[in-house]
Amino acid sequence: MRSTALLVDARFTAHVNGPGDPERVERIERLLRVAERPERDGIVRVAPRPALPEEILAVHAPEHYERVAASAGRPFTRFDPDTTACAASFDVARLAAGGVLEVVGTVLDGRAQNGVALVRPPGHHAESNAVMGFCLFNNVAIAAAWLRRRGVARVLIVDWDVHHGNGTQEIFWESPDVSFLSVHQHPLYPGTGLPTETGAGEGAGATLNVPLPAGCGDGEYVEVFERIVRPAADRFAPDFVLVSAGFDTHRDDPLGGMQVTGAGYRELTRILLEIADRHAGGSIVFVLEGGYDLDGLEEGVRAVLETLAAPTGTTVSAREVRGHETENKEEGT
Ligand SMILES: [Zn+2]
Repeated sequence: MRSTALLVDARFTAHVNGPGDPERVERIERLLRVAERPERDGIVRVAPRPALPEEILAVHAPEHYERVAASAGRPFTRFDPDTTACAASFDVARLAAGGVLEVVGTVLDGRAQNGVALVRPPGHHAESNAVMGFCLFNNVAIAAAWLRRRGVARVLIVDWDVHHGNGTQEIFWESPDVSFLSVHQHPLYPGTGLPTETGAGEGAGATLNVPLPAGCGDGEYVEVFERIVRPAADRFAPDFVLVSAGFDTHRDDPLGGMQVTGAGYRELTRILLEIADRHAGGSIVFVLEGGYDLDGLEEGVRAVLETLAAPTGTTVSAREVRGHETENKEEGT
């Protein structure tokens, strides 16, 4: 059984969007209950801390930081039609970004083998100088930049959120050391993420986009991960893997049009774990992005947590994991 660093915190509920916003506090309330009963052993609890200004400024412009900071203490700020802040949002956003760094640091220092950071607000739409799509600071990008500064040579970010991670793509567009691989629904918000978007300059070829039509389920996703994501990751040979894990690809999600189930999330997690085993000594951290159906969100997070417990070996064979799942099914879980 592998150890998994797990972070979720009640303070993430202090970020309150406008009434009716799907990115709501109940998401964290549900995940707090999941974390209370993770239904597996080997969990290493991690507490968040606020990200330092210099950690955030490694990927965001000073004006961006100041724009979010200016919302602190004000009852309500509307940045764009989707993205708002309450008086506490700046503090919560710093806690979310710093929480991801704590989980990543726990894995980097070997206190856990992999990790799951259940944070909000989410991050992958936030560009270097644009608050966007529920996202204030780009948590996964801040973590990738932090890993680079800690001496990790090559960081892979796989984004399986139903929406394209335009912010992460923009931040690392010219970076050869951070590879961004996104599988997303298209057409859909924010409209970017075409196969022709592959990076520029020294980063040319380090960005890979796989847009999929609405209606794709477990079979299509596993096929894309096996045929496109895995070979691309093998070519890049990452030293650390980060996952922008949105669960709005779930079949019950109100924002996405995909059909992924818990079984699909288990298979995708297994593939990513194999990539991490092959290149990165098993170092992989999942960072929550979207996921707006509470039952679908719980199903997806539990699937990731369970799969990350897979026994350590030089490689985890698909047969081994599938056999393990069959055993569970026979127990009627
Ligand atoms: Zn999303």
